[in-house]
Amino acid sequence: GIKIQNVGLSFGETEVLKRVSLEIEPSEFFAFLGPSGSGKSTLLRAIAGFGPTPTGRILVGDQDVTRLPPWQRNVGMVFQSYALWPHMSVRKNVAFGLEERKVPQQEINRRVGEALELVGLSALAERKPNELSGGQQQRIALARTVVVEPRVLLLDEPLSNLDANLRVQMRRDILNLQRELGLTTIFVTHDQEEANTTSDRMAVLSDGVIQQVGAPRELYDHPCNRFVAGFLGSAN
Ligand code: ATP
Ligand code: MG
Repeated sequence: GIKIQNVGLSFGETEVLKRVSLEIEPSEFFAFLGPSGSGKSTLLRAIAGFGPTPTGRILVGDQDVTRLPPWQRNVGMVFQSYALWPHMSVRKNVAFGLEERKVPQQEINRRVGEALELVGLSALAERKPNELSGGQQQRIALARTVVVEPRVLLLDEPLSNLDANLRVQMRRDILNLQRELGLTTIFVTHDQEEANTTSDRMAVLSDGVIQQVGAPRELYDHPCNRFVAGFLGSAN
């Protein structure tokens, strides 16, 4: 699981995360909802080890990772902006993390093949990212993250650029993968229906503060304040 203890983070004068505390169970599928600018991406980046070191502590399993570099955390993240390497082919992008870890070439080929198949893009392996649609790039970013088999999977709106059909299909694939590997997963989405149907529990974030945590039903039936009621009540 993941333990977030009093995590705070500021950019200049702006406090973006305000002593956030949260425990996510091993193998839990946890969703984050909240308005634009509420700090969702900042919190995921802090867990993955990107950006400034926050105050407080972050534990993955029993390990305090607050000060570890990203590659020592066993955490995989799919960024809102994909962050693919433009000069490398799709295959290279997906293989990179395995090459860095000195995985034998044969195994790299096999795992990259499986990951590309998972996201349905085997046919595009030799293309460059800028020759792909936004939705295809998003799927490559997902393949690149799961191929290294992290313990924790952080997904920052990984489905936002996909059409409705693909979105439902990918949602199912992510859930299957998550269950199969027993991954602890945090999923940021603007889509409430997506959060409701996928997550064991979810949290609503506003202005760097967690307003409420619980099973989706709990939050809908018993919102703890007007903000949560209004936020969940409003259409996206
Ligand atoms: P969205 O739903 O639009 O993706 P979010 O909840 O992910 O929003 P964050 O990206 O975490 O929001 O940003 C939270 C706040 O922190 C915003 O006000 C943003 O402008 C600010 N912020 C984020 N990164 C930086 C940075 N590198 N420098 C300065 N301010 C930043
Ligand atoms: Mg964001």
